[in-house]
Amino acid sequence: DAKGRAPGSIRGFASTMRNTAARRFSTAQGLRRALDNGGLFIEVQPRFTADQRQLTGGEALVRWRREDGCLIPPDDFVPLAEETGLIQPLTEFVFDQVMPLLARLRPGQRVSMNFPPAQLARHNLTAMIAARLARQGVPGDRLGIELTESALIGGPGLLDENLRELQRLGCAVAIDDFGTGYSSLSRLRHLPIDELKIDRVFIRDAARDAAGTAFLQAIGAMANALNLRLVAEGVETVEELDQARRIGCHEVQGWLWGRPMAPEEFLSLCLDGGAQEVLA
Ligand code: C2E
Ligand code: MG
Ligand code: MG
Ligand code: MG
Repeated sequence: DAKGRAPGSIRGFASTMRNTAARRFSTAQGLRRALDNGGLFIEVQPRFTADQRQLTGGEALVRWRREDGCLIPPDDFVPLAEETGLIQPLTEFVFDQVMPLLARLRPGQRVSMNFPPAQLARHNLTAMIAARLARQGVPGDRLGIELTESALIGGPGLLDENLRELQRLGCAVAIDDFGTGYSSLSRLRHLPIDELKIDRVFIRDAARDAAGTAFLQAIGAMANALNLRLVAEGVETVEELDQARRIGCHEVQGWLWGRPMAPEEFLSLCLDGGAQEVLA
């Protein structure tokens, strides 16, 4: 605890380091157990065409229910999993949950998965995914791949090669949280990607003031210039939906249509095919 300690003191710093290391260690242990004992599960958040008429699929989001019942959000354990090597079994787990869903989608719908950079720069990634798709007997266009911009900090290499092969399989490749990372525009221009998912902060700001609107317009113009599909994520209000439409977003996703849900619930929405339309 930081209270009652001289700020910046060496002793304080050292004990903070120990606490942090100890906490990280126990979190990693807990996550390891969760991977073995079924403490992880996924939810799916549906995505719609901007006119809300068609459900285009959804995004798989991992969750961790700790033994004490506490629900841990992915932002609190995915980075740790990346640092401790647990990200690989975690990604396998999500694959195991997502693949059977793909066979139950309607044509034209897909479910996307989030991949940390290192997972997308693995050898044999495409072969592994192709084998999984074949086992389900589904075409590659049922699977979407989301990667964050931080994946692009390095130069082109195995990552690009894998993305190109995944596209050849039919998978749609998206840059996630677009606008919050550090990718150079020239890197982006030559990358094998199909869509940009605009981070929620830009959607929110666009509905707030003129500067925010201009910013979102610029992102839309760039996506157009690069010939990419645009997806607005984190749409919470009708005003935000309106902004997303105005800059030509093709698809939308967000709490406006409900929170991420159990896979079975998502699948029954898929059968209905459209959104509970909200006015905009
Ligand atoms: P992301 O891929 O950008 O996912 C979108 C996040 O925004 C999700 O948070 C989702 O629940 C949340 N969200 C969706 N609509 C709204 C909205 O209208 N308003 C607000 N405020 N939030 C909304 P979540 O599930 O906590 O996931 C956080 C991040 O954790 C994800 O960001 C993704 O980067 C990572 N993540 C989630 N699942 C996985 C996974 O299976 N593997 C990996 N490697 N990363 C994952
Ligand atoms: Mg995502
Ligand atoms: Mg995102
Ligand atoms: Mg995110």
